[in-house]
Amino acid sequence: MKLSKNYKFWFCTGSQDLYGDECLRNVAEHSRIIVEELNKSGVLPFEVVLKPTLITNELIRKTFNEANIDEDCAGVIVWCHTFSPAKSWILGLQEFRKPLLHLHTQFNEEIPYDTIDMDFMNENQSAHGDREWGHMVTRMGIERKVVVGHWTSQAVREKIASWMRTAIGIVESSHVRVMRVADNMRNVAVTEGDKVEAQLKFGWEVDAYPVNEIAEAVAAVSESDTNALVDEYYDKYEILLEGRDADEFKRHVAVQAQIEIGFERFLEEKNYQAIVTHFGDLGALKQLPGLAIQRLMEKGYGFGAEGDWKVAAMVRIMKLMSAGMKDAKGTSMLEDYTYNLVPGKEGILQAHMLEICPSIAEGPISIKCQPLSMGDREDPARLVFTSKEGAGIATSLIDLGDRFRLIINSVDCKKVEKPMPKLPVATAFWTPQPDFATGCEAWILAGGAHHTAFSYDITAEQMGDWAAAMGIEAVYIDNNTNIRNFKKDLMLGNVVFGK
Ligand code: MN
Repeated sequence: MKLSKNYKFWFCTGSQDLYGDECLRNVAEHSRIIVEELNKSGVLPFEVVLKPTLITNELIRKTFNEANIDEDCAGVIVWCHTFSPAKSWILGLQEFRKPLLHLHTQFNEEIPYDTIDMDFMNENQSAHGDREWGHMVTRMGIERKVVVGHWTSQAVREKIASWMRTAIGIVESSHVRVMRVADNMRNVAVTEGDKVEAQLKFGWEVDAYPVNEIAEAVAAVSESDTNALVDEYYDKYEILLEGRDADEFKRHVAVQAQIEIGFERFLEEKNYQAIVTHFGDLGALKQLPGLAIQRLMEKGYGFGAEGDWKVAAMVRIMKLMSAGMKDAKGTSMLEDYTYNLVPGKEGILQAHMLEICPSIAEGPISIKCQPLSMGDREDPARLVFTSKEGAGIATSLIDLGDRFRLIINSVDCKKVEKPMPKLPVATAFWTPQPDFATGCEAWILAGGAHHTAFSYDITAEQMGDWAAAMGIEAVYIDNNTNIRNFKKDLMLGNVVFGK
């Protein structure tokens, strides 16, 4: 998927006018070189734009306000080459509303032992100036990322690159609009939540539509458009008839093609980027959207099943954060379904009734047509596959009544030992960190849901930083987790975020 905007990040160097013109010329030149080299490195997913050195209160305030209104600016990177008295920054920072990165670097890598004098030290004193600046940002309680190290270092560049993707998740969050075409599944608790508070915290617009309004959009899709998409499916995927009549099978697949086109047109027309459905409330739709939803997720739409609008929005955010990533391995809604409890082989089989995004697939992707065990519609066509191995994160955003909590579990994805030929759904399989028992215990203690927004491409750190920017609680379950300390994390969350 592609982002709708050509995002850029501004590079603002702090200084002051006490050092004389020659020093300020050097500061500007060094900043220019750093920006040029960062852009040339090929590591950063977005362009860095150099801004004039910030040396006065007026210019700082003006620059931050220009960053606010520039729709393509996704954040500002600040570095104080020299000393920059931090009271100069108060008004600008107070008015600034975008992601902020403090790049704590220095132009020269090594102390020039033979030639260093006081002029050199006054020009190269970010060790000093960046502390003054950091003090003010901390005093003002502003959330920001701090990246430390020389600007030529690969690790530093990768940290900046990673933060840029977090920043996209932050600035895009308030443009996520979720379409609910049915209410939450009756009696289910964890998929519920305060949509007003979600708009206040995350900027999400979550609106309901009668299911038959979108069913009408589906019915309006022409037979020729539908058939063209069916042909595309038959080119792209393996067809597993499994004894079904080939024509009947194709008719079932065509229902999904028509849903895919109709849903996408309806979402586009009404400007929604995420959608929820519910198998129990399908109106005039002939099948539960399966293959159709899988394809929409692959195109970048967020999705949540059984009315789960929080997961739909989170899948959308994580897809935005990983947009355009080289060698991306995928992002999907998943559901903790069935355990393998054999000692040494413990893990959670991830699946859903149908709706798993094929971006996480490895190997062949097939279309199957099978009855649903629930609901009262035609047997829906769906894509079936297994998923990639490797590290990923499963996230669950829950509403605790007084606040949202984001639970972030680092998981290790594996292949199951044997094929599961009778299972007519896509799957993933993982062992939660730090180990199956501790991971599951921590997840349940934290109140984590059975639906998750999962990604191979986004890190726990990125999602934790995103949560911090949203002003909500985040808890991590990973190789550093033990239950005694995790309970303290939850207690601390109650103190800080509980009402
Ligand atoms: Mn479900």
